[in-house]
Amino acid sequence: MKAFTYIEQGKFAMRDKPVPVLQDPGDAIVRVTMSSICTSDLHIKHGSVPRAVPGITVGHEMVGVVEQTGPGVSAVRPGDRVTVNVETFCGECFFCRHGYVNNCTDPNGGWALGCRIDGGQAEYVRVPCADQGLNRIPEGVTDEQALFVGDILATGFWAARISQIGPEDTVLIIGAGPTGICTLLCVMLQQPRRLLVCEKNETRRQFVRDHYPQVFLCTPEECEETVRQHSDHGGADVVLEAAGGKDTFELAWKCARPNAIVTIVALYEEDQVLPLPRMYGKNLTFKTGGVDGCDCAEILELIRRGKIDTTPLITHRFPLAEIEKAYQIFEQQQDGVMKIAVTAE
Ligand SMILES: [Zn+2]
Ligand SMILES: [Zn+2]
Repeated sequence: MKAFTYIEQGKFAMRDKPVPVLQDPGDAIVRVTMSSICTSDLHIKHGSVPRAVPGITVGHEMVGVVEQTGPGVSAVRPGDRVTVNVETFCGECFFCRHGYVNNCTDPNGGWALGCRIDGGQAEYVRVPCADQGLNRIPEGVTDEQALFVGDILATGFWAARISQIGPEDTVLIIGAGPTGICTLLCVMLQQPRRLLVCEKNETRRQFVRDHYPQVFLCTPEECEETVRQHSDHGGADVVLEAAGGKDTFELAWKCARPNAIVTIVALYEEDQVLPLPRMYGKNLTFKTGGVDGCDCAEILELIRRGKIDTTPLITHRFPLAEIEKAYQIFEQQQDGVMKIAVTAE
């Protein structure tokens, strides 16, 4: 089968590999009907994910059809349409029992697919701990509607959940890339009083204007002033940092009012500075990143009921055979790209 593979730092290429087989009782084999490219794939390509194993098939955002299940799998059956979770988790260890599935202590726990074990930019994928890692797609929900459930939408949902947003709050989201938009959609469900989005790229600001006209928009340069104008207590009550830029962490805590919650959604490529003397007296609470992707069933139900729609994010479509072209567009951010749906054919 075709499998897009991490060859070495700076190089991904299509390789021919055998179709995966069941290895453990909890495994399922999924025929991938649609996958996507994530910024984390680019982090692997650029060598900033040291635990990524050369030779693995990349890709951790996908939907498909269950082909085969091991004897230990009870939640899904062959023929089921499913979303695949970016995280592998056992459901039984201390962290899983508390909902902190990102820190599952299973040897495959956490982000394994498309990083430490073969992922889904391929025709088939083996999913360990399938009872936890797969969710059935409800009737009437399309592959495109479900495509982001297991990764960036799970991330946005988790970020909104842990940010303790209230009805009086002014919420600032920094970054209107795909993860920022997923975060925005999930924050909207909580109906805060005001929503501000800061984004440096004009194409992306236009995307927000076109689809979410109720949101206040600003550039990073305008951000502190805009937040002050639109908040009741000198800063945002909640800040969600989904940009991961050079100065966006600093912008996040500067725009927060005293005693605010600052949730870091982004994955940085460099260390960030926590200037405690300058923060003194602000009593901020930081939540420091790493989705616990255990809300997928709830997210799929919200999609089915029309409460979340991420399909506007899909700006491009390519068959798997042309995934290299898709990567080029995604990596160079050409042609107004947000997300790319990679189809089996
Ligand atoms: Zn991802
Ligand atoms: Zn676990």
